[in-house]
Amino acid sequence: MPLVVQKYGGTSVGNPERILNVARRVVETQRAGNSVVVVVSAMSGVTDSLIKLARQVSERPTDREMDVLLATGEQTTIALTAMAIHSLGAKAISLTGAQAGIITDGIHTKAKISNVTPRQIRKHLNEGYICIVAGFQGQTLQGHITTLGRGGSDLTAIAIAAALKAKNCEIYTDVDGVYTCDPRVVPDARKLDTIDYDELLEMASSGSKVMQSRSVEFAKKFQVPFEVRSSFNNNRGTIVKEEPLGLENVVVRGISIERNQAKVTITNVPDKPGTASRIFTALAEANVIIDVIVQNVSVSGATDISFTMNGDELAKLGGLIDNVAREIGAGEVIKKSGIAKLSVVGIGMRSHSGVAAKLFDCLGNGGVNIQMISTSEIKIAVIIDETQIETAAKLAHAAFGLAAAS
Ligand code: ADP
Ligand code: ASP
Ligand code: MG
Repeated sequence: MPLVVQKYGGTSVGNPERILNVARRVVETQRAGNSVVVVVSAMSGVTDSLIKLARQVSERPTDREMDVLLATGEQTTIALTAMAIHSLGAKAISLTGAQAGIITDGIHTKAKISNVTPRQIRKHLNEGYICIVAGFQGQTLQGHITTLGRGGSDLTAIAIAAALKAKNCEIYTDVDGVYTCDPRVVPDARKLDTIDYDELLEMASSGSKVMQSRSVEFAKKFQVPFEVRSSFNNNRGTIVKEEPLGLENVVVRGISIERNQAKVTITNVPDKPGTASRIFTALAEANVIIDVIVQNVSVSGATDISFTMNGDELAKLGGLIDNVAREIGAGEVIKKSGIAKLSVVGIGMRSHSGVAAKLFDCLGNGGVNIQMISTSEIKIAVIIDETQIETAAKLAHAAFGLAAAS
């Protein structure tokens, strides 16, 4: 029998009614002649509540215990989903990540999958069961529970689809597919029929949370095409796969935004070998994740270096940068939160020019000041004031003609 892997996100299993809706869809898929593996997330809001709860008993809970705690969210959903399927008269069995054979490394809260050995899933499928697998979690070889980073149920689904060579992998969520921009920010955003792995990867890693970026990376590596679609209707979604390179490639496929960013500028950094290394080694040792880095041209033997990070990382810095700046003989350190990043993404940029000019032009005409710019082969990103991010997204969306035809 052909095998279908379906993943249902938090909103899709957000209350008992919705879990029953998922159960009905899953049973229908089995009755249509498929073997079905279902990956579910925690009910919406549960993971966030568990994180809050942990902070109420400890300022710095250990990552290991966080994983034991967070894994309970998905464990609740697998049992409830299996029960709901039983109530419809079909066979279902719930499996934790460990039981499903998801083996990870030991980096708690952001573990990487090292192996998938879905022996139990295969056995239960052969016995006619629908397998309900807890997303977002795995187990180390030593038997410790791990989690795969926020949004990690997407990764569980892709990894299981790859391991079982599923015919279809379907990611069900609360929107109809991948849009040209978050439809909650740009109301006339258009659903895409297809998107290339690289494009979705860039969009996901620059703020479009419709798919976890690591799951897209995994899908590309193991060539697992998948469909993103809604659990609330039967509309066709967005097919994610490798798109052949060609002249007809769309230049700009979509726009991502990332709020809550912060910027640090170190002025008058002596322009000599080794200073950038001193700054960024100190940041790396403190596990601060840096995003965009800009160094100005030096005319007077000194330069300014600016870099951005997630707003929550700024708090981790403490006096670290001020100390390094003093040690290397730099000037002032300016820290600024309340900024955001807008990224314009498309594989067509590999062979087309003029995207940057069009982006800067539309933002300039709309009164949006660009603080920093960064580019990659298929992306142009700008750092702007957070208060202007929605305006900027709408301006860029219109300038690149991405809106739905009315
Ligand atoms: P799930 O709980 O199903 O995993 P998520 O909340 O993680 O769902 O992801 C779906 C959300 O992603 C949508 O509700 C939407 O607001 C947001 N989103 C951001 N960018 C996009 C985009 N380009 N296309 C579709 N949805 C997007
Ligand atoms: N429940 C986890 C989270 O909220 C994993 C997921 O939803 O994919 O991040
Ligand atoms: Mg998600």
